[in-house]
Amino acid sequence: MNPDGLLVNLNQSQQAAVSSFADTLAILAGPGSGKTHTLTSRTAWLLAQGLQPWNVIVATFTVKAAREMKERIGRLIGNGMESKLILGTFHSIARRYLARYGHLIDIKKDFGIADSADSLAIIKRILKRNNFIIDAKVAKSRISGQKARGAGYKVDENGSKSVAKSVEAHEFETCYMEYEEALRRSNLLDYDDLLLRCVDLLRRHPSCVSNVEAVLIDEFQDTNIVQFDLMCLFASHRKRVTIVGDPDQSIYGFRAAEIENYKRLLRLFPHTITIALEENYRSSGAILLTALNVIEQDSSRVKKSLLATHTVGTRPVLRKLCDAHKEAEWIITEIQRIKGLTGDLLDLNDFAILLRSSALSRLIESALGKAGIAYRMVGGLRFYDRVEVKTILDYLRVVNQPDNNDALARIINVPSRRIGEATIKSLLEEADEAKMTLWSLILGVVQGKRTAETKLPKQTDQGLSRFVNIILTARGKLTAPPEERVTTPELIKFILLKTDYETWLEEHHQDKHKARWANVEELIKQATDFQDLVACGYEDECLPQIDDLDQEEGADHLSRFLANVALASEVKNDEGTATTQVTISTIHAAKGLEWPVVFIPAAYQGSIPHSRAEDTNEERRLLYVAMTRAKALLYMSCPVKNSQSEQTTLSPFLCQPSLAPLLDQRGPSLRSTAVQTMAQILRRSLPSTTSISKSSESVLSTEDDLFPIDGEENEDEKNSRWNSMSGNPTFTMGQQPTKRRRI
Ligand code: ATP
Ligand code: MG
Repeated sequence: MNPDGLLVNLNQSQQAAVSSFADTLAILAGPGSGKTHTLTSRTAWLLAQGLQPWNVIVATFTVKAAREMKERIGRLIGNGMESKLILGTFHSIARRYLARYGHLIDIKKDFGIADSADSLAIIKRILKRNNFIIDAKVAKSRISGQKARGAGYKVDENGSKSVAKSVEAHEFETCYMEYEEALRRSNLLDYDDLLLRCVDLLRRHPSCVSNVEAVLIDEFQDTNIVQFDLMCLFASHRKRVTIVGDPDQSIYGFRAAEIENYKRLLRLFPHTITIALEENYRSSGAILLTALNVIEQDSSRVKKSLLATHTVGTRPVLRKLCDAHKEAEWIITEIQRIKGLTGDLLDLNDFAILLRSSALSRLIESALGKAGIAYRMVGGLRFYDRVEVKTILDYLRVVNQPDNNDALARIINVPSRRIGEATIKSLLEEADEAKMTLWSLILGVVQGKRTAETKLPKQTDQGLSRFVNIILTARGKLTAPPEERVTTPELIKFILLKTDYETWLEEHHQDKHKARWANVEELIKQATDFQDLVACGYEDECLPQIDDLDQEEGADHLSRFLANVALASEVKNDEGTATTQVTISTIHAAKGLEWPVVFIPAAYQGSIPHSRAEDTNEERRLLYVAMTRAKALLYMSCPVKNSQSEQTTLSPFLCQPSLAPLLDQRGPSLRSTAVQTMAQILRRSLPSTTSISKSSESVLSTEDDLFPIDGEENEDEKNSRWNSMSGNPTFTMGQQPTKRRRI
């Protein structure tokens, strides 16, 4: 593969970044400037230089971003090597290291992952058992916060002597400790543990990453301290790191993301070369100008310029509607009208509705449903959280890892085995007190090795035996000799058969049993697809082996499928059959993505900025992220009365006088003349460059203004420095391109 070919269609700064021989590179730039695009090209370029893909780590923020990146690298290099990259979210990469090397720090190979709902259930149980008064959700997010900061159990009370706070602190500390103990006993790791334990692993066994030649990180502004540590550990051998980020889009402060990480990077890697990208390839000039006007209200931010490469286009629309119902109807009408006006130019996949919180989606979902418009929910009620899907997954979790108390407690009486809620609770408490798992307790009882203190009626006894039997037989099938071993889809079918699950669904959900059964079938399909993906080496298996693990193929496959489910952050809703769908997403989950048409409803004080948010600047950045997802049309709206019938006032971020001339606040929202311009933007055929400055005027800049930063130093010097660092005989340096192309 010719590395120079990878630079075609990139602007000069992007080319410099892609083909830089600097060890540490920081690409800091605004939205839509091609940071992810550049990071992808740089990964391909490194491979073209001779790096082996299994020696390159690429961390992204969402599963979707990881998938898109892998596909694009595949298109660039075209030899299937992209599937061998260590590419994924921080959590999925950490999971892979722990699955492969966790035994070195006493993590059992078949560990399960506690997702958010599992963690909450465990915490609720602890609080109830101890009669604690603290709120389970608050405790959960606080535990997660402490873990994400790498802090221990102790609560910092800021010197406060208030008795109430001390009680709370004591309850929290106890809850934290018991939570950790419960996870350990059930052989579970929660999301934070995946990162923390991986840090622990790599600190104690740096040889696990001795092969890593390069580390590339997207959305660096949202990394927390543990992720930062992980990045440094990945890079501890070669110290070759590329990060891309935008401080203006930092929106995960509430989850302990640290904007300070950039300074840390400069301290740890003093030779870091910083490159800016200043052209926006995503949004129309008018959208960009309006978004910049919003972000510039934050006087504390570091200013940077961003130039629109597209035409000015249609002004963003801001509408006041009388209530939230009317707002939802207005959105539907506009979607239909835009579709009507634009003909083949747009399909439903080109529309997104971005929400500050997923609770706002109800009215919009029902309006879309009434209008017969297909939609997918991102970051809302996930496919995997549906009762029937979760039940089957819980069965798989228990078959894989019977010590998972919570999964076991959820399915022990589904379908009904006459084991009541009270009995389950009492068994759980008994197991807790005996410091054993629920599974060991019931197994002992069924096998006659112990008598339960909990009183078990006769029918319960039989129910328990049948249940234990199903789990033991399923486990047997999983660990059988290869020729008799079952695959994950076969295992699901076995469970469905043994539990007569379809009949149970029919009896318990008469009205919706067909839809629910369709979800179960969809799960079987996903398990089959995953099986195929793994079979063609698309997932995992590219970490180097430092010793031989006694791998049980079947069990290993099931754990990987379950981990994949636990780490997936988004799944389609019921309308899975529709080929095109409007996207409804939280703003947080829309990070890094783009759509031709974007709606931001509920733009009122209390929604954005959110009433419970602590950092107003972070809320403003959130609005900025939402606005900059739009390519051609941006719609914002504010119901005068919200869905709780409370009077609202427009978000202060949109009240600035300087914004008034930039927004379309009356008139029809899309004139037919605008369609032409839109088509141009979407086909990326616009050579004109509009400079967006602090003033609300758009002026054409000279060409030189477009490529202000090159960050270049003497190439020969850098080549030799890099070569000497590389120390890798397979690593051959390519020629730097002599000609640079401009777009
Ligand atoms: P965000 O901050 O929102 O994550 P980003 O900086 O990562 O944005 P990308 O998503 O990489 O931006 O790119 C935005 C859009 O611009 C994409 O559609 C990408 O294909 C396009 N793009 C990037 N660079 C160029 C270029 N040199 N020429 C044409 N299009 C480009
Ligand atoms: Mg990006």
